[in-house]
Amino acid sequence: MRYAVLSDIHGNLEALTAVLEACRAERVDRYLCLGDIVGYGAQPSACLERLAALEAVVVSGNHEQACLGMLDPGWFNEAARAAILWTREQLSFGDLDRLRRYPLTCMEEPFTLVHATLPRPERFDYLVELGQAVDTLTACRTLMCLAGHTHQACFVEFDRPARRVLRVLTAPEALREVAYEDEPVTRRYLLNPGSVGQPRDGDPRAGFAVVDTAQARLGVRRVPYDVAAAQRRIREAGLPPFLADRLAAGR
Ligand code: ZN
Repeated sequence: MRYAVLSDIHGNLEALTAVLEACRAERVDRYLCLGDIVGYGAQPSACLERLAALEAVVVSGNHEQACLGMLDPGWFNEAARAAILWTREQLSFGDLDRLRRYPLTCMEEPFTLVHATLPRPERFDYLVELGQAVDTLTACRTLMCLAGHTHQACFVEFDRPARRVLRVLTAPEALREVAYEDEPVTRRYLLNPGSVGQPRDGDPRAGFAVVDTAQARLGVRRVPYDVAAAQRRIREAGLPPFLADRLAAGR
């Protein structure tokens, strides 16, 4: 099976459209989405619809939780808060119903999906330290944990019995083609595919990952998209201009 792993789409339909086109070219069989489909961008409903049409497996992100009133908007910075309040107004009852059905974690063998970290997905901690990766990999009960939230791609290989980190890959060249061992007893892997709709690693192109479970190979991809069109929609919607500006910088 070839899986596409998408995270942090953030209402950016232009980026999502480019990514889905690339996925079709790569003959992806199934779509996995790690949350934050909405928030920041100007087309939240359209992004939710596209994922529903693909029958994607989806977990909830902090922006979904905030739109549902499960997370206090005061938890967010000013631009994010403004975007959440704007997004709430845009979503239909059907959209909100969809958001309510997304769990915080889910298992789809050999994957565990979560927006941020395990074992406390509801905290939406940013995984920035290796110790957090170890906690997540220790709590993970499948071969691979898929997590987003930081908007930066990474891959961690963990020796489960020895509780030892064997590999950490963050450089784009290193992430392009990664072989892993399908050894669910001895190995655990963490994959963050980066962000579709708001990359924050200095590269404005949309990011996602493809995992080929038959070949035990994965890769992080970047595809160009119409950034100017996404920026225009954000400005026309009256969202904070900073949210448009940052797309061009990939920050
Ligand atoms: Zn996000």
